[in-house]
Amino acid sequence: MTTPPAIRIDNLVKEYASPGPGEPPKLALKGVSFNVPQGGIFGLLGPNGAGKSTLINILAGLVRKSGGTAQIWGFDIAENTRNAKRSIGIVPQEIVFDPFFTPIEVLENQAGFYGIPKSERRSEELLRAVHLWDKKDAYARTLSGGMKRRLLIAKAMVHSPPILVLDEPTAGVDVELRRQLWELVTDLNREGVTVVLTTHYLEEAEQLCDRIAIINHGELIAEKPTRDLIGMAREKVVSVTVDKDLAGPIMEEAFTKAEVLEPRKLEITYDRDKASAGQVLAIVQSHGYAIEDVTTREADLEDVFVQLTGAG
Ligand code: ADP
Ligand code: MG
Repeated sequence: MTTPPAIRIDNLVKEYASPGPGEPPKLALKGVSFNVPQGGIFGLLGPNGAGKSTLINILAGLVRKSGGTAQIWGFDIAENTRNAKRSIGIVPQEIVFDPFFTPIEVLENQAGFYGIPKSERRSEELLRAVHLWDKKDAYARTLSGGMKRRLLIAKAMVHSPPILVLDEPTAGVDVELRRQLWELVTDLNREGVTVVLTTHYLEEAEQLCDRIAIINHGELIAEKPTRDLIGMAREKVVSVTVDKDLAGPIMEEAFTKAEVLEPRKLEITYDRDKASAGQVLAIVQSHGYAIEDVTTREADLEDVFVQLTGAG
């Protein structure tokens, strides 16, 4: 028996109506399919306008799909909307609150909305988890941006969904708050919640997510374990310091780029399918230089992202 996916997306299509006369409709999702396995932290990445929020808003029931199917925890979003919605908590990209509600009221109202009896509510536990218990009676309008985001996460968890989705939770957030948010997300995941997040920060996606999907212009272009995705970067970079001033860059067929950075320092980019670091060094030596120092840079998610999306 294999565990069924937390989210199953099949050939999802979204066409937004034309914004006005003479303007074409916008095909924001062009038939996207992938599964989110249970239990992990899944990253949905893509440049601005790729269709990430559209996809998430379809799951949230905020945007109506034009085609394809999606299942959340086994429930079809169109045929079993109620159960699908109960299985997912969504933290939207935009912060919206009634400024006159306090955090405790925000959570209690949400619990009421889901029909959760008083005895089964977890408002205190959730406010403590997001470090807002001491602010429970403060008006939402007096909370900092970071506190509001944490409150939104608590609000998304009120009905104890097995899946939490965060759309760009750290966009425009300072470093310290970002660290806090990631800690919160990893804690929830450790407790068994399947997490899906969209982000622009490749480095964090790399550290946090065990699996990543990349979409671009409404199309899925990769979906793999993070490690495999990073392994897709074909190019490697090696910096070589030599014993005397370089006469010029050493360019060979196996290299994609060679640059003199300092009089005695050369940076060579090579395709790891065509050469090895050892061969690169041997070539440098064959030009009459002795090697004094070598550093290599591993490809990271950013390299893969740029390769796949053609983003600069
Ligand atoms: P992302 O979240 O990856 O930045 P979005 O899903 O917000 O991307 O947008 C995908 C595309 O759909 C963009 O070209 C965007 O301009 C367009 N789009 C988003 N929302 C609407 C809408 N309500 N009406 C028309 N076009 C939209
Ligand atoms: Mg978005």
